[in-house]
Amino acid sequence: MAFWGNKMEGESPLPGEQAPIHLDGTLEEGYSEIVKSKGRAPGIDLAIKLSDLLLEHAVRERASDVHIECQGANLRVRFRVDGILQDMLSSPKNADIPLTQRIRVLAGFDPEPPASFRNEEGRFQKMLAGRAIQVRVSSFPTVNGEKLVLRVLDRQQLGLDLEQVGLDQDAMTLIKKLIRNPYGIFFITGSTGSGKTTSLYAILKNINTPMINIITLEDPVEYRLEGINQAQISAKSGFTWAEGLRTILRQDPDVIMVGEIRDFDTAEISLRAALTGHLLFTTIHTINSASIIERLFEMGVPPFLIGSSMLGAMSQRLVRKVCPKCSQNAAPPSEPVVNEFVKNMDPDEGKIVKELILKPGATYKVEKGCPECRSTGYMGRTGIFELMLMNEEIRKHILDHAPTDVIKRTAIRTGKMRTLLMDGILKARTGVTTLAEIIRVTATMV
Ligand SMILES: [Zn+2]
Repeated sequence: MAFWGNKMEGESPLPGEQAPIHLDGTLEEGYSEIVKSKGRAPGIDLAIKLSDLLLEHAVRERASDVHIECQGANLRVRFRVDGILQDMLSSPKNADIPLTQRIRVLAGFDPEPPASFRNEEGRFQKMLAGRAIQVRVSSFPTVNGEKLVLRVLDRQQLGLDLEQVGLDQDAMTLIKKLIRNPYGIFFITGSTGSGKTTSLYAILKNINTPMINIITLEDPVEYRLEGINQAQISAKSGFTWAEGLRTILRQDPDVIMVGEIRDFDTAEISLRAALTGHLLFTTIHTINSASIIERLFEMGVPPFLIGSSMLGAMSQRLVRKVCPKCSQNAAPPSEPVVNEFVKNMDPDEGKIVKELILKPGATYKVEKGCPECRSTGYMGRTGIFELMLMNEEIRKHILDHAPTDVIKRTAIRTGKMRTLLMDGILKARTGVTTLAEIIRVTATMV
């Protein structure tokens, strides 16, 4: 198997590695060029060329995931760009170009998939576009053949600075103050792929100094952060969230990041740690900021513990930014359309939303599509945020075991909380994105 080389860390070149890659055309064109040279070079060299070509294109197109599907006699490649899958390549499979085997070897797997189902996960690192890109590989045996998904972790795309995540000036000022509290717990919530891990990293990076001890518990550790002690959860070896937390608390921490809270033990230890002089950041799976409290109730956490340790919560989603090359100006929606849109909302919230949409002075945009954005009308993404800060009235509701909608209404009324939808509308008003995109992303929440 020396022929294949071993799992590659950094830049140890494999045979054929130095061959120039033609990136001028599309992936399809590059692929057919490689296919044309069949017979003139060993299959392995072509597979190396092809996997390099795929990854180069993935980085250039800002893809977060590359799906390689062998469906019967066909090879299909799709990229996830700005959260949406796009077809990149569809062609009869070339048995003489062993692409999947090449990627399996890079990921540290055996070249051929195991005969019986086994969960396979691996990773490798590669220099692409002048920087080290980490790739996490997952293999899945479908009835049609193996499916590989490559998660492309590009630090440059991620933007680990708090200034880059998409918070506006007001929210930024509040957050920066909040994350400098000496103790307490701050929650971030959002669906998978909402950018919450990025926000957590950006927060840690923002407060990181040699004078404080920051420890994280993660599953998995996605990025290595300089000067921060990161640990990986491993349920198999008994290093669970709760066990990890107990260990961390004996390591004299100032700041603790817990990747996720999903059970009573982890919740209780975290909240108690927040009461005893530690600052904690964590994520929890709920639909919005206010429902975090109900989720903690469900886990069995006593209200007094939540009320006395919680600093606040932030909910977030990623929205696509409208393509600056082809977007067009748009008139604001008519009042009847807006009335229809807000009619099922809480009346106070609906009133604010209506005013926000119709207030004069907006520069709304609508997407069109051009070669630059692959006819999608959008390019890149940014966050929308719902920041709920604790205050006396919310705390009182928590102690009364109040339901989510009461807490949400109170946060809007007394804390001037902007919901995800409101924050999104503000972004649409300035032409960063479109109202259609905001409605698409927040549709399940109103
Ligand atoms: Zn465009």
